[in-house]
Parts: sequence; structure tokens; C-alpha cells
Amino acid sequence: MWDFETDPAYQAELDWAASFVREEIAPLRYVISNVLDIGDPIRQALIPPLQQSVREHNLWATHLGPELGGQGHGQLELALLNEVLGEEPIAPIVFGCQAPDTGNAEILAHYGTEQHKQTYLQPLLDGQIFSCYSMTEPHGGSDPTAFTTTAVLDGDEWVINGEKWFSSNARYASFLIVMCVTEPDSPAYQRQSMIIVPSDTPGIEIVRNVGIGDERPDEGTHAYIRYHDVRVPKENVLGRRGEGFIVAQTRLGGGRIHHAMRTVGMARQALEMMLERALSRRTQGELLSKKQLVQEMIAESWLDLQQFRLLVLQTAWKIDRYQDYKRVRGDISAVKAAMPGVLNRIASRALQVHGSLGLSNEMPFVDMLLNAYLVGLADGPTEVHKTTLARSLFRDVKPADGLFPSQHIVAQREAALARYADVLAAHGR
Ligand SMILES: Cc1cc2nc3c(=O)[nH]c(=O)nc-3n(C[C@H](O)[C@H](O)[C@H](O)COP(=O)(O)OP(=O)(O)OC[C@H]3O[C@@H](n4cnc5c(N)ncnc54)[C@H](O)[C@@H]3O)c2cc1C
Repeated sequence: MWDFETDPAYQAELDWAASFVREEIAPLRYVISNVLDIGDPIRQALIPPLQQSVREHNLWATHLGPELGGQGHGQLELALLNEVLGEEPIAPIVFGCQAPDTGNAEILAHYGTEQHKQTYLQPLLDGQIFSCYSMTEPHGGSDPTAFTTTAVLDGDEWVINGEKWFSSNARYASFLIVMCVTEPDSPAYQRQSMIIVPSDTPGIEIVRNVGIGDERPDEGTHAYIRYHDVRVPKENVLGRRGEGFIVAQTRLGGGRIHHAMRTVGMARQALEMMLERALSRRTQGELLSKKQLVQEMIAESWLDLQQFRLLVLQTAWKIDRYQDYKRVRGDISAVKAAMPGVLNRIASRALQVHGSLGLSNEMPFVDMLLNAYLVGLADGPTEVHKTTLARSLFRDVKPADGLFPSQHIVAQREAALARYADVLAAHGR
């Protein structure tokens, strides 16, 4: 059965979340300089009470099942909530579902020991700490088989050496999950393992915190890290040795679709602003909304948004239905590949309709455009996801038997004429 309606009780929660985000969370971006900095007393005075309200509404960490303190809402309901949270960068932290912590929590829940869950997962779920995922290396991120950071067993300890690049939030994280070559002689996809490294372990050097766009050097949050003889207990490996790629898929599948859900919200916000401006600004004696070229920009944006949103919601539904990320890998790649273009086009049109104001730092469109590039790179570039999608589409297709395609019109016509020869003959043809 097809159903495009939201359950009224959940819709009421979404309505509450929407006004909470706009009225209580959005103003905080002008008051809190860095929401990840739990050492900031202003942040600590303002964020935890809001997180408590979210818990009281049973909307805290809804990406998690009930066994982990979440509500078990599933991905479809999370998609609807994330659309609301996508309007405001701070909102996911207030709702306990921010990247990269959601993905890291999923890894710990699936592969962590009881000790790992107690030490790392629980405080992460409680919103007391942040975490980092340290996988990409400076010499190349799109091809993880090329990574060279090693972890070598020395007695009961792993000794880690190497460099990582764009390890987001490392400067605020209490621990890092580091992808390391542990089985150098195995086939390419069985060489690496995921290892938990507490941030205060000696030997971790943050070379610099790389910023995005025009962020000042001290504002950057994507760390270039060197690991020099970093020693952690043997038990800190997550999953089995050499299964780093399997563990990575556990976190990246969810992370990619969550970004897409929030992107729907951001793109919808851009469209809403475009509509308002077109109905408010006059030129040549009439409103912008009367100009057909402006109407076209608005119509194209709505079409982009609705097609993308339906793809995201259907993919979320498939994740809930099949409970198997491998089975929906092609769908997730499709969403991931579509996302940067949709946001880029809608934010660009919204900027254009706002004229010089749109380009200025008094409106959010330039940030949205930057975000479009961000979502086209983080968790793998668009090109790689297009090839994953294409490969998944080839999977159920067989090559044509003969020289010509199976839908070749000549062959089809011949087959139809042969099949209905009696009928045609009876009617003199
Ligand atoms: C905001 C942000 C946050 C990030 N956070 C993290 C993090 O927390 N942890 C982490 O480990 N990494 C993180 N990354 C890194 C991210 O995973 C990599 O940027 C991504 O995998 C691409 O790697 P690269 O930047 O080295 O690009 P490269 O591998 O150098 O690729 C450059 C370009 O080459 C092209 N290309 C690459 N492969 C192919 C292909 N197969 N076919 C055709 N063209 C191709 C694409 O256009 C691609 O953009 C983050 C990145 C960003 C932008």
C-alpha cells in the first residue's frame, strides 16, 4: 500500500520541533561561538536545558533503537525530523543526532565490547562528549585502499603511526576511531581495522585544524593529524581484524542518508526565502513574482526539491523495511549523488532572486552553496557514488543474447507478425 501521510500524533511532534528550532535554537547561533566547545560556560548554560526539552518530547537521538536509549522511530520518521533540523546547523546537537557522532555511535553499538559501550558509547549518547572519525589521508581520500597509516601489535598494545586528513571535530573529541592497516599482506579490502584511540593518548599531533571557505585558521574543525607511536590496548579494535571496510559501511550508510535528510530542510528553507522575496521586492513597477523568469526559477526549485525529497523518503523507507544497508547501497548512493546538485541549484536561484543582498553575508545563501560542495565530498565524492549506483543497476541486467538489443524493433516486429499470423491472415493481411 502506498501512503504519503504522516501519522497525526507524530506530525504534532514535528510541528513542536519546527517551532522549537525556529524560536529556541536558531537565535543561539548569534550567542554561542562554538556549539562543540563544552568548556564554554555560555554554551553550557544554554544548550543542556534545550536538550532536556527534546528528551521530554521523546525526540532525543531518534536514530537509535530503544536498547540504546533512542525511540526506535526508524529512518522514515527520522527523515521527517531531520528535514526540520536541517534548517539550523546547531539543531542536530540539541536533538542528539549530529554527524559524525551518530555514525560513530552506530559502530560502537554494533562492534564495541561492553567496556567500550560504557566508556565511549554511553557518554556520547548522553551528549556529554564528542567523537571523531579519522579515516581520510592527505594523499587521497576517495580510494581508501591507498591508506598507509599502520597499527602494529606490540605485546598487548597497538602502535599506530601515520597521517590523517580532515578528521572533523578532532579538536573537541574525547576519542577518535582510526582506520589503520593491520594486515598488510591481505587482499586490499581486508587489510585495515578500526581502532579506538582516546584523544589524550600520547603521540597524537594535530598539525593544524583546517577551515572551510573563509573560516579563520583558529576556527577550523577538520584536523590534519599525525599519529607518532600512539599506543592503545589490543582490545580497542572494533570488529574483527581486517574488517575495517565492513565496519566503515555500517557508519557511512547511515551518515550519508542523514545528511540528505537535513539537506532537504536546508533547500526547502532556501525555496521559502525565495518565495517571500519574490512576493516582496518590486522592479519595473511590479513584484518579482510576476516575472516569468523568476517564476521559472521557483518552479524548477520546487521540482528539484520534491523529486529529491521523495527519493530520500523512499530510501529511508527501504532501510526500515529491509534492515540491510547492503541491499540499499545503490539507493543511498543515488541520494548522495543527487544531493549536492539539488542544494546547489536551489541555493543559487535563491541567491539570484535576492540580488546583491543574496550574495552578501547578511543572508545564508553563500553558506548554503558551500554546504552543497561539502555534501558532495564528505563521505565520498559524487563521482564515486554515481559509479556505485550504476554498478548496482547493472547487477540485475543480463547482456543481450544476439548482435542486436532485446528491444530491437525489427526483431520485435517479426516476432509479433509471427505470433499473430493466423489473425492477420484471417483478415486478409
Ligand atoms: C566537510 C568535510 C568533512 C569531512 N570529514 C571527514 C571526517 O570526519 N573523517 C574523514 O576521515 N574524512 C572526512 N572528510 C574527507 C572526505 O571523506 C574526503 O574529502 C572524500 O573522501 C574525498 O577524498 P579527497 O578529498 O582526498 O579527494 P580525492 O580523493 O583527491 O578526489 C578528488 C576528486 O577526484 C574525483 N574523483 C575521485 N575518485 C573518483 C572516481 N572514482 N571517479 C571519478 N572521479 C573521481 C572527484 O571529483 C573528487 O572530488 C571530510 C570532507 C569534507 C569536505
